Amino acid sequence: MKDGSTKVIMLGTGTPRPDPERSGPATAVVVNDTPYLVDFGPGVIRRATAAYEKGIAAIGFGGINIKTVFLTHLHSDHTVGYPDLIFTPWVMGRREPLDVYGPKGIAAMTDHILKAWQVDIDGRTNGINRHNSTGYKVNAHEIAAGVIFQDRNVKVTAFPVRHEEMTDSFGFRFDTPDRVIVLSGDTSPVQSLIDHSQGCDVLIHEAYSMESYHQVSPRSQEFRRCHHTSSAELARIANEVRPSLLVIYHRSNAGGGSARLDHEQVLIDELKRDYAGEVVAARDLDVF
Ligand SMILES: [Zn+2]
Ligand SMILES: [Zn+2]
Repeated sequence: MKDGSTKVIMLGTGTPRPDPERSGPATAVVVNDTPYLVDFGPGVIRRATAAYEKGIAAIGFGGINIKTVFLTHLHSDHTVGYPDLIFTPWVMGRREPLDVYGPKGIAAMTDHILKAWQVDIDGRTNGINRHNSTGYKVNAHEIAAGVIFQDRNVKVTAFPVRHEEMTDSFGFRFDTPDRVIVLSGDTSPVQSLIDHSQGCDVLIHEAYSMESYHQVSPRSQEFRRCHHTSSAELARIANEVRPSLLVIYHRSNAGGGSARLDHEQVLIDELKRDYAGEVVAARDLDVF
C-alpha cells in the first residue's frame, strides 16, 4: 500500500463480553495521515496508543490526533470508551475539541459525561498542572441518514441499519480518494447496507457463527436474529455486494466461560461454504 493511502485499523473487535484479547468496538480509518474513528468501546485509547506504537503514527500518542469521530449507535459496548476518548487525549495535550457525529441522544450523553467529570475538568484547568481549556470540549452532531461529513479526505455517508429496539442505528460508508470502506455497525440483514456497499473495497461486517448460535438459549437465539447477522446471512450479503475484502468484526461468542470461546476459523469455514471471496476474521490491531 502506498504512503498516504487509506488504511483501516481495527482498534477493537470485541462485543459486550469482556474478552481481554478484544477491546470494545472501535475502528480507525486513516486517510492522508488523518485519523477518523468509528465507535468508542471500552479500551479505545489504550488500543489507539498500541496502534501508534505499532507504526500508525497518524493516530498520535494517546490518540491525540483523533478529532473526528462517528458513532453507529448508543449501545454501551460501543460508547463506554467515550470519557476515555474525551479526556485522555486532552490530558496528553490535545487542544482542539472533538467533533462527534452520532444518533439522537449523543448530545445528551456528551453533556452528562462533561457534567460527571466537572471536578476533574475544574482541577485540571485551574490547578498547578494547567491543562488547556479547549481540548476536553465536544461538538456533538446528531445525524440522520445521508452524507454526514465531508472534507478533503473523506465523504462519510450514514445509512440506517436494523438493530431492533435501537431504531436510531447506522452503518457508515467512507469514500476516500483511493478506497471505499463500509462498516456495518450492529445490524441484522438489511437492504440499505447492500445498497450502500456496492462497489466497496472493504466491507467490515459483524457476524455470529451458526455453531455458536446453536449453543445459546432460545431466548438468545431470538435476540441474535433480531439484532445481528449470522454467517449464512453474511455469505448471502457478501455474494450480493462482492467486496474486494470482507472483514468480520464484533463476532459473537457462544457465551459462558472462556472454554466456550468461539474460534475465528469456525466462522470463516461457515462463510466459505457459501462465499468464495476473500474473507478475514479481524483481531485487534489488524490493519487492512
Ligand atoms: Zn448494539
Ligand atoms: Zn455491539
